[in-house]
Amino acid sequence: MPQVAAAPTPPSSRPSLISTDIDFDRPGLQSGHLRLPYSHDRSGYGHIPVPIAVLNQGPGPTLLLTGGNHGDEFEGPIALMKLMRRLPQLQIQGRLIVIPGLNFPALMQGTRTSPIDQGNLNRAFPGQRNGSLTEMLAHYVDSVLFPLADVAFDLHAGGASTHYLPTVLAAWPSDPAQADTYSRLVQHLGAPRTLVMDLLGEDRTFGAAADRHGLLFFCGEFGGQAVCNPQGLALAETCIERLMQGMGLLPPTLDALPPEATHLYRVEGDAHYVFAPVPGLFEPAFQLGDEVQAGQIAGWIHDPTQPGAPATEIRFKGAGLALCIRALARVEAGDCLGHLASRVPAGQV
Ligand SMILES: [Zn+2]
Repeated sequence: MPQVAAAPTPPSSRPSLISTDIDFDRPGLQSGHLRLPYSHDRSGYGHIPVPIAVLNQGPGPTLLLTGGNHGDEFEGPIALMKLMRRLPQLQIQGRLIVIPGLNFPALMQGTRTSPIDQGNLNRAFPGQRNGSLTEMLAHYVDSVLFPLADVAFDLHAGGASTHYLPTVLAAWPSDPAQADTYSRLVQHLGAPRTLVMDLLGEDRTFGAAADRHGLLFFCGEFGGQAVCNPQGLALAETCIERLMQGMGLLPPTLDALPPEATHLYRVEGDAHYVFAPVPGLFEPAFQLGDEVQAGQIAGWIHDPTQPGAPATEIRFKGAGLALCIRALARVEAGDCLGHLASRVPAGQV
């Protein structure tokens, strides 16, 4: 039989071009970088070093912790930097992978999207091996990090344009066999509010990709306005600790929580969102944490080009808790001014 040469692997299906000095299987603590290739005018052979730490202490689950998916959300990166400084003293059963600034160019610029390719990492999954820098990062997470992990916790906040009541976001796994484990972990986190995500078919997110890999996924909106919210940071740090304990990485030293310690919420589609119908300057008539009624005034938009004309009045279409409010007064038609969420009985998730 003549030997038939195997077809060469097309470049787009080869392993990620992002390399690292980290050996994920090596026991102990390692701090290093992901080397994101970046050939440009100043640096033809250059790369962007993305900091990463791995603590591998024997058999046990792997938890992937990421911040800076969006670069103008700072509670997650700060919480994870504080965790990284504790890693030399931490005794765990299993493995932690910690990346405080996942879309590192965006974090260093303080912008939601990458200043290099304008990429929104949370809309780039599963990414592309031969894509833009942001697509390459998504591809690395999808093809290298997700297969290593059991649980992923991607820490967000509202970014420059919105402000959130600090809230954990939960997405029940599509595999029903994992639902009970997930429910137990949600309960164990014990956040005052847990928003049950509805991705409305959006499948390009970190969370949707994690679910495709069979990981349990947690997220959170821990503040916003491109500031560091101290209460949100404290909640993020507590949730990281409780998640490590709930997974068995750490012994359970935090107080047991009573049942119903967390209240589940859901965004009920379009009726819960408020959008600007016209451009102008937004004057809100509500605050974060308000319980609002359908028909209640949400605010007004003033048109600077017609300063003597009446402002455009905006009303809520639905009722619920004001979980998110726009942080920037300047609006264009279609900009989100905030959204509500409704309490969900625990059995109805
Ligand atoms: Zn975000």
